[in-house]
Amino acid sequence: MKRAQSEALYKKALNYFPGGVNSPVRAFRSVGGTPLFLEKGDGCIIQDADGNEFVDFCCSWGPLILGHNNPVVREEIIKAVSLGTSFGAPTRKENELAELILQHNRYIEKIRFVSSGTEAVMSALRLARGYTGKPVIIKFEGCYHGHVDSLLVKAGSGLSTFGISSSAGVTEAVAKDTLVLPLNDKRALDVALSDFAHDIAAIIIEPIPANNGLMLQEKSFLEYLRKVTKENNILLIFDEVISGFRVGFEGAAGLYDIQPDIITYGKIIGGGMPVGAYGASKEMMSHIAPEGNVYQAGTLSGNPVAMSAGIAQLRECSKPGFYTQLEEKTKVFTTKLNNYALSKKYLFKVFSIGSIFWFAFTEKEKISSADDISSESMKFFRVLHAELLEKGVYLGPSGYEVGFVSAAHTPEILNQVADKICAALDVVFATLPEGVSKV
Ligand SMILES: *Cc1c(COP(=O)(O)O)cnc(C)c1O
Repeated sequence: MKRAQSEALYKKALNYFPGGVNSPVRAFRSVGGTPLFLEKGDGCIIQDADGNEFVDFCCSWGPLILGHNNPVVREEIIKAVSLGTSFGAPTRKENELAELILQHNRYIEKIRFVSSGTEAVMSALRLARGYTGKPVIIKFEGCYHGHVDSLLVKAGSGLSTFGISSSAGVTEAVAKDTLVLPLNDKRALDVALSDFAHDIAAIIIEPIPANNGLMLQEKSFLEYLRKVTKENNILLIFDEVISGFRVGFEGAAGLYDIQPDIITYGKIIGGGMPVGAYGASKEMMSHIAPEGNVYQAGTLSGNPVAMSAGIAQLRECSKPGFYTQLEEKTKVFTTKLNNYALSKKYLFKVFSIGSIFWFAFTEKEKISSADDISSESMKFFRVLHAELLEKGVYLGPSGYEVGFVSAAHTPEILNQVADKICAALDVVFATLPEGVSKV
C-alpha cells in the first residue's frame, strides 16, 4: 500500500494542528502508524491521497447512513448553496426539516437546531438545570457526550462518586456537578439517588452506548432509569447523537419505546453537514429563549445548506423498509463473521444492533459496562486494523469505536469484505501480539 502522499500531508499538518489533526482520534494514535488523508468518497468506497481505495465502515463516524456522495443529498446541497449559504435569519428549510422529524417522531414535540452533537448536549444540560433548578447531572462511565466540560469526567473510587475531571482545563467545581455511575447497575443508581436525589437535575445516557465499544443495555435497565427519574423529579436525557435515525427513524427511544424528557441528536440529522438538535415536549421547550429564560443561540444554527442535506438524507431514511433492509444486510455480515470466529475458536465477537457493529476480542457473551472491556484486547485490534487497511477495508482507527453499515454497502460487497475480515482474523490469531496469549 502506497502511503507517501498521506505521510507528507501528515508531516505538514503536524506544523499546523496539535497532533496534526482537528479531532484527536483521527491521529491513529491508538492503532499506530500515520493517519490516511482522504481525498474522496463515493457510495461505500473512499480513496486516500495515494489513490488507495477502501470499503469504508467509519462513514464519518456515523453521519453518512446513505454512504458518500449520495446523489440526492448532493443535489439538494448544490441547490441550497446557489441560493446563499447563510442568512442568520429564519428560512423555510428549518421548517421543512423540523416538520419531517416531528411528524415521524412520537417522542419530541418541539426541536431546536444547533451545529454539533456537543452543542446539543450542552444545551440539553442547561435546559435540564434551568427547568429543574437543580445542579447535578448523573452520567455513566463509558458513555460519551461530546466534549462538554461537565461531562469530561470519570468516576472516582467508590460506588457513586462525584466526577474527577478527565481533561486538563475542566475545573474541580465543574466536575463536582457530575456524578459518574457504572452502566447497567441498579444498585449504584439507588445509592446515588438515596444520597443526592434532591440535587439531581437529570440523568443522561446514551441509550445505545456506542462510543466505548458497543455496550448494549437491558431494556429493563433503561426502564428502571425512567421509573426512578419520574419518582424523584429528575429528568431523563437520551443522548441519541449516534443512535438517532440510526436504529430507526425514532432512534433508541422508539426502539425501546421509552419516553425520555429531552433527546439530543447529531450526526445523521445533518446529512454529512454540521447539525445537532435537541427536542422535548412543547412545555419543556418553552423554557428556551426567546420564549423562556434558558439562553441558547447560534450564528449558524439552522444553516440552510446543512438543513437541506439533513432533509434529503432523512427523507430517504423515512421511506418504508429503509431500516429493515439496512439491519438485514448487517445481520448477514455479522453472522458470517461470528460463525467463522466460532468455528476457529477465536476469542472474537461482533456485537451489533441495527446497522451499528463492534469488533470485540473477548470471551464474554455480553458487554454491558466499561469494566467488561479489557484494554489488553486492543492489541488485537491494532493488528486487525493494519491488516484490513492492507486489504482495502477502512475501520475507525480505534478498537473502542464502532463501525457502521450504510445503505450504499451492498450485500455483495459486505460478503467480500467479510471474507477479507476472516482472513485478517487468521493473521491476528497467528501472530498474537507480544505478551498476549489470551484475552
Ligand atoms: C458523536 C457524539 C457526540 C458529540 O457530537 P459532536 O458532533 O462530535 O460534537 C455526543 N454524544 C454522542 C452519543 C455521540 O455519539
